[in-house]
Amino acid sequence: MSDDGDKRSLNFIEEIIEEDNRSGKWDGRVCTRFPPEPNGYLHIGHAKSICLNFGLAERYGGTWNLRFDDTNPAKEEEEYVHSISEDVRWLGYDCENRVLFASDYFERMYGFAAELIKKGKAYVCDLAPDETRAYRGTLTEPGRNSPFRDRSVEENLDLFKQMRDGVFPDGSKTLRAKIDMASVNINLRDPVMYRVLHAEHHRAGDKWCVYPMYDWAHGLEDSIEGVTHSICTLEFENHRPLYDWFIDAINEGRGTGSDWGEPIVHSQQIEFARLKLGYTVLSKRKLLELVRDKHVSGWDDPRMPTISGMRRRGYTPGSIRTFCERIGVARFNSTIDMAKLEHTIREDLNRTSARVMAVLDPLKVVIENYPEGECEDLEAVNNPEDSSAGTRSVPFSRELYIERADFMEDAPRKFFRLSPGKEVRLRYAYFVTCTDVVKDPATGEVTELRCSYDPATRGGDSPDGRKVKGTLHWVSANHAIDGEIRLYDRLFTVADPDSVKDGGDFKAFLNPDSLIINSRAKLEPSLKNALAGSRYQFERIGYFCVDPDSSNGRIVLNRTVGLRDSWAKIEKGGKKK
Ligand code: ATP
Ligand code: MG
Repeated sequence: MSDDGDKRSLNFIEEIIEEDNRSGKWDGRVCTRFPPEPNGYLHIGHAKSICLNFGLAERYGGTWNLRFDDTNPAKEEEEYVHSISEDVRWLGYDCENRVLFASDYFERMYGFAAELIKKGKAYVCDLAPDETRAYRGTLTEPGRNSPFRDRSVEENLDLFKQMRDGVFPDGSKTLRAKIDMASVNINLRDPVMYRVLHAEHHRAGDKWCVYPMYDWAHGLEDSIEGVTHSICTLEFENHRPLYDWFIDAINEGRGTGSDWGEPIVHSQQIEFARLKLGYTVLSKRKLLELVRDKHVSGWDDPRMPTISGMRRRGYTPGSIRTFCERIGVARFNSTIDMAKLEHTIREDLNRTSARVMAVLDPLKVVIENYPEGECEDLEAVNNPEDSSAGTRSVPFSRELYIERADFMEDAPRKFFRLSPGKEVRLRYAYFVTCTDVVKDPATGEVTELRCSYDPATRGGDSPDGRKVKGTLHWVSANHAIDGEIRLYDRLFTVADPDSVKDGGDFKAFLNPDSLIINSRAKLEPSLKNALAGSRYQFERIGYFCVDPDSSNGRIVLNRTVGLRDSWAKIEKGGKKK
């Protein structure tokens, strides 16, 4: 039984592991892996897979590997290897010496392939790619045997060696498993194991002129590493018979005393539903397209569902892990509401982030009975959820800014913020009353409020027990610093941008307002030297994170998430604020 004290019931993969532990199938051993192809940055879907794989290994006292599935030389780049390692570490999983590369197994895979040839289970085929496809048949029609299917073992071994040695041009020959061209499962119709490809590999250089196909390579990678439970997403369910066939074919005839050697590890493939999130895309190809065509500023654009984008946006590793734990694992596909993800980060930041005051849409307030040129430092609480976070001082003076939306000239009865003749509390400061409204004579726009303050209410409490309903945040005009605030909205205007059909372009649904830059914001001076990555709650507004674009006194902040869920409204067809 898991011993981490959680009360939730076991998910179906934990049930499999516990059953294996009971039966002694793996002698109590658990080894999992996360096998990304280094052809893009990791996204929140990958985070789910990482948390699942590594979480299981952790829970059952096992081990886990970060394995780069770098069998496809054309698409792989060092940049991706680097970013993936970094993201896994940031999520909180220490890879130590368990960062592995599938390309390191090429020699052994080649040996296993030669073994299948010798066992009469693989052959070299000269059909061109389109012919191979035509011979394969369809869902309703069986395939046809390749005319090269019955080559002798000697000829196959010789041709395979020549393929490796670079004798043949790209696409001219393949090595195929000899299974069954009439199988109802198309994956078993003599699948290709190797193709000829003269390409430079990021680690192996130009050593190889043949590269293994995914289905052949993957089970061997798992086997070589001694993986017990090979967890993948549902679209591989139909590949499982092939995964098993390859390992069984290698193990046929193996055993003590056999010339073939001992049997190799036969990991168990288990499929689960991939994460799908509303209003975004989680396909590396599509994310790459957004980056390449400059619809976003890069893989780490804070609107991207990538780990690096979410990190820059202000997400914490803990909130992502909690989210992945909460959504659980299932065997059927479903879409998770973005509100769930935002709820998790809000919960985390509410506990941990320092409160500051910032005014995003400033309206000048002059306190007429406050002495000119005077300034006092008022004490403000850093985090009411965490008393150890202490307090800071915030300057107060005669001229302040408040949010324009916190004032209404003709206020309805239920408007408890500022309006002519009304008294409100300025947080940590004083009670103030609006005495006059200054307007631009040409446009009629309110440009300034004149107010009076009650010196007896210092700190925001009235000694006579007088009550006010509204409490506003504010900043001192002369002390405030300017900031650039980047306000993000969902990246797409539709819940399922993946569903575009018939040559339609998912990019047509990009939200033109997904980034709004606010350069008017006035921030309390304590933010002046805030470091990139620092997270804050702007009181009454939301959670913000300092962007690395900040430099030389210019501060740029990303809105991580608002204080309240604004998604519920969208789902009901209302407008998001
Ligand atoms: P692509 O977007 O190109 O289809 P991929 O998501 O399959 O790529 P890989 O690098 O092969 O990318 O993924 C590594 C691992 O992450 C795989 O085990 C895969 O099952 C898992 N994974 C990928 N996307 C998701 C997702 N949305 N939810 C859960 N797991 C995922
Ligand atoms: Mg993949």
